[in-house]
Amino acid sequence: AGAPKRVLRADEVGKRFGGLRALNGVSIEVPSARITGLIGPNGAGKSTLFNVMTSVLPATEGRITLDGEPLPKRSCDVIMRGVARTFQHVQLVPGLTVLQNVMIGGYSQGRAGLFAAALGLDHEEESALAAQAQAALAKVGLADVALRSVESLPLGSQRLVEVARALMANPDVLLLDEPAAGLRGPEKETLAALMRTLRDERGMAVLLVEHDMDLVMRCVDYLFVLNYGALLAEGNRNEVQKNPAVIAAYLGG
Ligand code: ADP
Ligand code: MG
Repeated sequence: AGAPKRVLRADEVGKRFGGLRALNGVSIEVPSARITGLIGPNGAGKSTLFNVMTSVLPATEGRITLDGEPLPKRSCDVIMRGVARTFQHVQLVPGLTVLQNVMIGGYSQGRAGLFAAALGLDHEEESALAAQAQAALAKVGLADVALRSVESLPLGSQRLVEVARALMANPDVLLLDEPAAGLRGPEKETLAALMRTLRDERGMAVLLVEHDMDLVMRCVDYLFVLNYGALLAEGNRNEVQKNPAVIAAYLGG
């Protein structure tokens, strides 16, 4: 409650990799208090859109704005502005525990910063961070495995560790790239409930890329469909589900 209204927006965004046009004139909007879905076949450009919308990669054309201002050019500055994400291909630190991996997400915020992380936090700061990380793990249903080594977890659970780590930045905007891949039914339910809670209680803007249509249709408020780097359709769940172009290109397949 009382969270500021935020909006992350792509306007006519294009991204080229050499001769390949991965994105072409894509406009999407990710506002507060909404779960926005992004679907489309493999190779449609979903992860690339995540990358340009978090300054992991520069766009070739168009504009990315956060609350109407140009998005910072460095991804660490994007995080400082309240935008956190997960990666489709998990980016965890092997050799560390689950809890330590989640704690890393907290170094990017507040006065600690990465520099202080490298120097080592004092004991009090470290325990506060550990407690916060434990709470984030509880939210994704992984409280019990906090002290296990992160690579001992199944890949699906590792994705949830990434979600917990992203939550450590206490973002206003959260981008999740296929977080449910490899999850079982009850874990998907936990994830869906978490996204709804973040939306309803925290007013968070959530952008969800997901292949599991069941999960998408259960939780998104608004949906964009990408195909071959271009937007094929957008609308609420029912509108998109009935769209003939979407059925032909994606849902029917
Ligand atoms: P999606 O996430 O929808 O499956 P991606 O955004 O990963 O799609 O990929 C879109 C297209 O861009 C694909 O053809 C992919 O091979 C290409 N691509 C993605 N990242 C790169 C990169 N770093 N260099 C070259 N091509 C890339
Ligand atoms: Mg992808």
